[in-house]
Amino acid sequence: ANGRPRVLSIRRSRHEDALTNERFNVITARDTTDELQREGKLALLADVFRSSLEGVVILDLQGRVVEANPAFSGISGVSRTEVNGLPIQTLLPWAAHSLNVAVAAAASGERWSGTVRSLGPDDRERAYLLSVSTSRKIGGQPRNIIALFSDVTEIHQTQQRLRQQAMHDNLTGLPNRRHFRLTLEEALASPSGHTGGLAVCFLDLDEFKHVNDSMGHVAGDELLILVAERLRVGAGNDACVARFGGDEFAILIPDVDLSCRKVADISNRVHKLLQRPFMVGGNKMYIGGSMGVTLFPEHADTVDELLKNADVAMYAAKASGKNRTVFFSTEMRERVRAQCQIQTDLRRAVFADEISIVFQPQIDVRNGRCGGCEALARWTLPDGRRISPAEFIPVAEKTGMIVQIGESVLLRACRQIQEWKARGLNPPRIAVNISPMQMRMHNFVDRVKQILRATETAPEELELEITENAVMEDVDEAIRVINELSELGIAIAIDDFGTGYSSLSYLRTFNVHALKIDKSFVDDLPRDRDAVAIVQSVVSLAQGRHLELVAEGVETVEQLEFLARAGCDKIQGYVFSRPLSAEECEQWLREDFQIPHREIMQPTTPDVCLKK
Ligand code: C2E
Ligand code: CA
Ligand code: CA
Repeated sequence: ANGRPRVLSIRRSRHEDALTNERFNVITARDTTDELQREGKLALLADVFRSSLEGVVILDLQGRVVEANPAFSGISGVSRTEVNGLPIQTLLPWAAHSLNVAVAAAASGERWSGTVRSLGPDDRERAYLLSVSTSRKIGGQPRNIIALFSDVTEIHQTQQRLRQQAMHDNLTGLPNRRHFRLTLEEALASPSGHTGGLAVCFLDLDEFKHVNDSMGHVAGDELLILVAERLRVGAGNDACVARFGGDEFAILIPDVDLSCRKVADISNRVHKLLQRPFMVGGNKMYIGGSMGVTLFPEHADTVDELLKNADVAMYAAKASGKNRTVFFSTEMRERVRAQCQIQTDLRRAVFADEISIVFQPQIDVRNGRCGGCEALARWTLPDGRRISPAEFIPVAEKTGMIVQIGESVLLRACRQIQEWKARGLNPPRIAVNISPMQMRMHNFVDRVKQILRATETAPEELELEITENAVMEDVDEAIRVINELSELGIAIAIDDFGTGYSSLSYLRTFNVHALKIDKSFVDDLPRDRDAVAIVQSVVSLAQGRHLELVAEGVETVEQLEFLARAGCDKIQGYVFSRPLSAEECEQWLREDFQIPHREIMQPTTPDVCLKK
């Protein structure tokens, strides 16, 4: 009717009328187009069933095999004819558990899928994705269960390889951070983790950067591989040692009891192992490590918090002298929290101009008059609270904000000099503190020059204080910068002198103008014999090199007397004045003939007037 060809089945039959003997030809025609199409389809389906690479098996609702294809025989290892009527669980004992669940699910009309694994005839593991569904009768009742097995072994292997790569550190082969986190997560979730207690340790090598810088990255890598091996040995079999990157390692120690004996043992072993020399590229090398430890459940019960605590404790180990182990404590957390708060607030402060400067006078011992002022940063919060530079400068140094703050202090100091001059004052040289990070900026000298130019300040009006430790960080670079600044005419003072490890022989190569003897030595004067000896030797060092000597943090008349007699040139401290605002300082400078304790500094004291 619709123009498509139809297939007809035609039958002819003969009939003979018994009475009349008449014969009939009866011809019937039946349209078999649909029937043939159905048959073709069935043949096709049978073909698919036979030749499918997937194992297909049809089960009754009890899970007995009704029909299976050759691929399934391959999987079960039992021939097609022998499988009929057998429960599928007995054919695939390795998947019995999943099959029980799957058959039960399918029998109640649900689909089920999951991965099952078998040991193949060659003893290689194979993985199959098993999906189970039902065929239904017309009424909707499930009639048969159809189970499909797709071989996903290759996919799984690739996935595993990728997982292995994603979970391990390429250099040392140790688990990486992700792996460590997962292991820790599992340990926290497992009931034994709760009863046994855990320790999470962070280990950071001391001065590893130095190895990399001086010996190259190849040597650095070699050293890391050797360290990884020693950590593995030191931590023992049940611990998980991971490399987080760079020279950072982590150790997860399970089954830690209240005494923490196990942690102490491992920590001792690790430090001992690290103490032994490492042979790298034919050279003997030594390296220390700082370790922070936090305990579960005592200190925290989440992965993130444990990792954070261990990191905090590790930094505490570094701060307290390196090459040691420090356990986390809640006070550490408080300190970090306060620092974080400062960090956030400081960013705002820098932009909101909340950082100002004060000036602390330095008195010249020869004439008792003001011979200089140190500019010191001050931070006043919008609510009027003040934060000490001792608190915020270290944070600013860590975050790099010190560069901006330091420049702003320098700029303000230079502006103040000019303002005082404009008001008819003849201000003394103003000293400004320079942080190590500023020194490391490649354009530091240029920045100083720019600020001098912009504020029309002469280099002679300025002094820069550079700490001894900043100098020692990179001596050659410090020599270059200091000499360049000195050539401009800027006076350079070495701050906190005596606290660093500087080899005094370096002093010869620096074009410095003054040494500032650190407050910690002044504090113990004049009774402490060591402090006296140190001050005396610094005095003779300064005199020998024709350097000015400034004592800071001088609080008592006794200290002042001692220092003046010993041969200090300038005195800075509460004994004369606390740091002053610009207005207060101006007043002070105008009245500087009223400076107290003049009698101590009058040239009547013979020791003092002998100098210079
Ligand atoms: P510093 O450079 O050693 O400065 C001397 C510190 O000693 C100042 O503390 C000063 O107020 C304090 N001081 C002075 N005389 C006495 C005294 O008689 N007794 C006592 N107990 N303390 C005295 P301040 O202003 O709190 O600064 C602390 C540190 O912060 C400074 O130590 C310096 O390292 C850093 N700092 C301050 N301002 C700046 C800055 O603008 N840039 C940089 N990079 N660091 C700064
Ligand atoms: Ca200083
Ligand atoms: Ca100082």
